[in-house]
Amino acid sequence: MTTRVLGADIYAHTFRESVDKIFGYLKSGKFHSVYTPNPEMLMLASKSAEFSAVLKRADLLLADGIGIVIAARRNKVKIPERSPGCDTIEALFPLMNNAKMSLYILGASPGVAQKALERVAQKYPNIVAAGCGDGYFDDEKERIIIKEIQRLKPNLLLVGLGSPKQENFIHRHRKELPVSVAVGCGGTIDVLAGNVKRAPSVFRKLGLEWLCRLLSQPSRAGRMLQIPVFLIKVLMTNDEKG
Ligand code: UDP
Repeated sequence: MTTRVLGADIYAHTFRESVDKIFGYLKSGKFHSVYTPNPEMLMLASKSAEFSAVLKRADLLLADGIGIVIAARRNKVKIPERSPGCDTIEALFPLMNNAKMSLYILGASPGVAQKALERVAQKYPNIVAAGCGDGYFDDEKERIIIKEIQRLKPNLLLVGLGSPKQENFIHRHRKELPVSVAVGCGGTIDVLAGNVKRAPSVFRKLGLEWLCRLLSQPSRAGRMLQIPVFLIKVLMTNDEKG
């Protein structure tokens, strides 16, 4: 079941159901794309037909932020809670560990994906650390990365290049990626590497993770100013009629 927010069909289930859905994709052996839209991404999609088409072709759009959950409150179908990309990915690891699945991490500054992969492999020894690469590459290097992923055939591919770069990357290569799930995961690789701390759980439960991020990274203020603009835009859009 999904609910429409600014034209995007967001998965309207609990966090646990989101995790189970993606694990189902992982077991299917067929390609699936999973993105974690926040207000900023949906604002971009409302202005860019090209990015909107990328989101429409996704297999699953998770309600990453509280802004999306709030926006859906006026719909008949509501979103019961957030399914933050980072938590969802971390919840998949024990399941992947039991199933001995493999992981490829692409994104973030040089060395970070490697560190993230090592930390995951240390905590979950049955997860196969298939490979990794940093998120700063030219077209030539991109071909090499795709060839490497084709050779390694990981079950899960995490792509953290920031948005919309990561979603465009997954969309562009969807027909040639032999993976079961590709997730556009934003800053999750920095968190997995232990370089960035998540907000304390009390803030996360209250839906105030954005406030912690704002305090620790004031440079994000410009991006966050889009949230009220987004909510106003949602109020002015009749999503339920499509
Ligand atoms: N990034 C990257 N390549 C780029 C631009 C960004 O790998 O060309 C990485 C960056 O190093 C960081 C992540 O993308 O790890 C930033 O994602 P963003 O801040 O957009 O994600 P969010 O924190 O909003 O989830």
